[in-house]
Amino acid sequence: MVSADGVAARRNLVVGNWKMHGSRAANAELLLGLKAAGPWAAEVAVCPPFIYLAQVAQALQGSAIGWGAQDCSTQASGAHTGDVAAAMLTDLGCRYVIVGHSERRAAHHESDELVADKARAAIAQRLTPIVCVGETDAQHSAGQTEQVVDRQLAAVIRTLGADIVKVVVAYEPVWAIGTGKTASPEQAQAVHALLRRQLRAASSHADALRLLYGGSVKPDNAHALFAQPDIDGGLIGGASLKAADFAAICRAAC
Ligand code: PEP
Repeated sequence: MVSADGVAARRNLVVGNWKMHGSRAANAELLLGLKAAGPWAAEVAVCPPFIYLAQVAQALQGSAIGWGAQDCSTQASGAHTGDVAAAMLTDLGCRYVIVGHSERRAAHHESDELVADKARAAIAQRLTPIVCVGETDAQHSAGQTEQVVDRQLAAVIRTLGADIVKVVVAYEPVWAIGTGKTASPEQAQAVHALLRRQLRAASSHADALRLLYGGSVKPDNAHALFAQPDIDGGLIGGASLKAADFAAICRAAC
């Protein structure tokens, strides 16, 4: 859809990040619940652990719910034990891949440049990278939010150039992930507006890019967050593991 000023309208996107949760039985039940609850006007996808991607792909084939992975290698193929190439994700029908989640930045020491390289590898295989940015609790308290997210996004802009229009950006304040503390809609919108400004400086198509908020999104706070002008949906962790909660969040994005 294109508005009167010629800017493509953004379709909200809600992505479930299952992290390292699930079993074949639990996944089957969750997916059945989601398929029964949808479809939604918003776009919806789930990102299970790699090992369950084939199961999820089979269960969701033909449904309106897409799927993606939680990470990918910077490398196309070769001697990289334990890694998964973007081409393998495309082969399994993935639409999305999360890169730069704060848990990977922290536990696997992923740098801004490595995250940007993963985004480039994903785009080369026609995947949409969901690039996560966000400040830690200490950085938040020190008033460094703007500086941190600017630096993280700048690395991706530098690496991708014009291809920056092919990403989804997720602002996930680390202090809000899995903690039950959520950024207020106004706080989140303020950071999203900064990110949008940075993207506009890099691309004339920045208004078409989707910016997701992540960090303890629940059915009772989703609507107020998604009502903000620069919040185009959410990246959902804990609440994506319960079909009723995830479905309610998807409804709130519609
Ligand atoms: C996440 O891990 O991306 C996330 C947002 O988690 P939660 O919703 O549980 O805070």
